[in-house]
Amino acid sequence: MTSGGPPEGILLADYPKVPLAEELITKLVEDTHDYAHANGLVMRTREANTSSDVCQTCPIALLPSPFPRKIFQQAVQVQDIIAQLYHEIAYDYDFLLKCHENVIQTDPFTKGLVDILKAVKEQGLAQETTLAIQRSDYMCHKDPFTNEYCLRQIEVNNIASSMGAHAERATRLHRRTFAQLGYDKEFIDKALPEDNQPIALIAEALFLAWKSFDNKNAVVLVVIEDENMNQIDQRHVEFKLEELGVPVDQIVRKTLTQCYECLTLSPERHLLYSGSRIAIVYFRSGYGPQHYHSDREWEARKRMELSDAIKTPWIGLQVANTKKTQQVLAEDGVVERYIGDPRQAASIRATFAGLWSIEGNDPLTRKMVQGAISHPSQFVLKPQLEGGGGNFYSESMVNKLQILKPEERAAFILMERIHPMRIENYLLRANQEPVLLKCVSELGIYGYAFGKRGEALLKTGGHLLRTKGETVDEGGVAVGAAVIDSPYLF
Ligand code: ADP
Ligand code: MG
Ligand code: MG
Repeated sequence: MTSGGPPEGILLADYPKVPLAEELITKLVEDTHDYAHANGLVMRTREANTSSDVCQTCPIALLPSPFPRKIFQQAVQVQDIIAQLYHEIAYDYDFLLKCHENVIQTDPFTKGLVDILKAVKEQGLAQETTLAIQRSDYMCHKDPFTNEYCLRQIEVNNIASSMGAHAERATRLHRRTFAQLGYDKEFIDKALPEDNQPIALIAEALFLAWKSFDNKNAVVLVVIEDENMNQIDQRHVEFKLEELGVPVDQIVRKTLTQCYECLTLSPERHLLYSGSRIAIVYFRSGYGPQHYHSDREWEARKRMELSDAIKTPWIGLQVANTKKTQQVLAEDGVVERYIGDPRQAASIRATFAGLWSIEGNDPLTRKMVQGAISHPSQFVLKPQLEGGGGNFYSESMVNKLQILKPEERAAFILMERIHPMRIENYLLRANQEPVLLKCVSELGIYGYAFGKRGEALLKTGGHLLRTKGETVDEGGVAVGAAVIDSPYLF
């Protein structure tokens, strides 16, 4: 390594030159499909999303995508503190109720969540131990003036944090791809570090929680969607949990509708399924209005929240998960209320993009809204939704801002639009030829916080990269916008 060079000696210039030769692309595509099927890097098809008998290769990048090591490390280093922050604000009922008091005037879904939070506040926590399984998402912003890279948080996911199984497989696949391209092991170990294991982390968190419940017959309930393309990603977590020691017949998968039918809350506030106590409720659903078809699903959720089962997430954490909370956290002094160490608080704050409330109809708010309408490429309008597909960009943002009544605006926030670093990569989708595109990537870092208020055990482990064409606004893999990827760290 030359002095002043990158610490690991990996350069952007060492990245494979694209376009690759046609023959090589054909070989890599063949291998990628085989590797995907041999290793469970697959998804159900959109058409047949209630069964796994026909699965397809996950949407995936053929090569890893360049991502600055320094920015990557910053995201990893701040993760424990972010998990701690969310763990703590989840317990602050008054803060969360205040944050959302105007949101719930026009947003029935958030109101549903807040109503349950109020019921829990009234009755008190039957279970003080909580578990946050988190993935914090970022983009690498390139400052147009200084050309410096900087880390910008897009959002934090505290419910149904997914894609971990695909992420770790993408790392292993891309390491193999690089070996095929002639890179030696030492180089690969630095550029594509092997140690990417979000599933081990998530399963460990669930296992810790199950053990702490201290009832070897107790059940882990996985709350699932009615239809689900991403079944295999979820099953990798469960299979790992079985390996750790939760008996196979004590992991139960139910939709919220089924939960209404089969769960009871005993007078001691035990959550019961078929005579067994439920130790853990692991939500891989329940984050959007589409999961609550009627009052029955809300009733099921309330039963769970009033019970002594350990929820991941519990209702406090889900209310803390909103874009609204994210925006309020960016206001002066709010992070600092929960994270006492000023350096730690500053390290979180350093990742924040511009976030603005558009509640109320005072002159300052009207000016903010007008500013976004005049500069559509600089802002994103976000409702309180999860799972991709809910945001407004560009022209549609302008239209939406123009039709929203002032009282309806409270259910949205404005966020500075990040224009991330651009790279080139081949994106591969099942039944299609790979396409070489100018792309942008989003990095997710996994971690957990487990324990009671003020005393969480924190751990960071594993990452996800998702990459999409630079002209695509939305981001999710499940919604068809992005592909699974892994970072080439330079
Ligand atoms: P969700 O909870 O639905 O995933 P996100 O806030 O992650 O909501 O937004 C969805 C996608 O929209 C992201 O994956 C990202 O691609 C894009 N996006 C969100 N916020 C911004 C932003 N500030 N700048 C640029 N793109 C953004
Ligand atoms: Mg989200
Ligand atoms: Mg997201």
